[in-house]
Amino acid sequence: ETVLKLSGIEKAYKRGLPGEVHVLRGVDLEIARGEVTALVAPSGAGKSTLLHIAGLLDQPDSGRVEIAGEPMQDAADRHRTRVRRGAVGFVYQFHHLLPEFTALENVVLPQLADGTPRRAAETRAKELLDIVGVLPRADHRPAALSGGEQQRVAFCRAMANTPKLLLADEPTGNLDPETSDRVFAALMTLVRETGLSALIATHNLELAARMDRRLHLETGHLREA
Ligand code: ADP
Ligand code: ADP
Repeated sequence: ETVLKLSGIEKAYKRGLPGEVHVLRGVDLEIARGEVTALVAPSGAGKSTLLHIAGLLDQPDSGRVEIAGEPMQDAADRHRTRVRRGAVGFVYQFHHLLPEFTALENVVLPQLADGTPRRAAETRAKELLDIVGVLPRADHRPAALSGGEQQRVAFCRAMANTPKLLLADEPTGNLDPETSDRVFAALMTLVRETGLSALIATHNLELAARMDRRLHLETGHLREA
């Protein structure tokens, strides 16, 4: 079962100097169910662009995007939004948690928005927070948590609505190396325990080595490493 399929993706940014930047030049990519893939690339190579296209936040100039076998390029905006919210979870370098809510509420709220009853949402939130080791901190607001704890909560929030695909853009890039290691291990445990497929951008080769597969993005092309 293929969770994400990109075919012939082209993307150029036309504004700015020195004119057009051709970021993706015929990118093909398939991610199978349960597969965790590293996206390795130097800064500016187009990782965020690729993740945004895969996550339906941005449109390619040409090429095809399929999520769980469903072609998305000609889908209506409303439908794209529904697929993005339901099938895709995002994690960024910065946690983007809601500051006025507790860790638990941050993981509960997206489930309520998705129609899950509160009791079930709280049960799932606690299970997820437990897997990454922050359940004892569930009643704290983000400001009272360490950077690593904040990021763990963000992982749980991304997985709250049981997406099929997790897209992560340098998920531990803001943390010091030692914290980054432990927080990354927590992310991998969460992904494995939930059977999720993931595309995780990093320029940390040690972290990449722990994933199932490594893809390098260079001069607009993706190649297996
Ligand atoms: P990465 O995530 O690998 O650092 P990005 O996908 O953010 O790379 O950017 C790839 C290239 O495209 C960079 O040269 C960047 O400056 C350029 N770029 C990204 N977004 C835009 C935009 N909205 N307009 C113009 N250029 C952009
Ligand atoms: P970077 O990739 O430069 O580290 P972020 O990961 O925080 O920065 O966000 C990258 C871009 O994705 C931002 O320009 C932001 O506008 C966009 N973005 C982030 N989250 C969402 C979202 N939920 N919906 C739409 N766009 C988003």
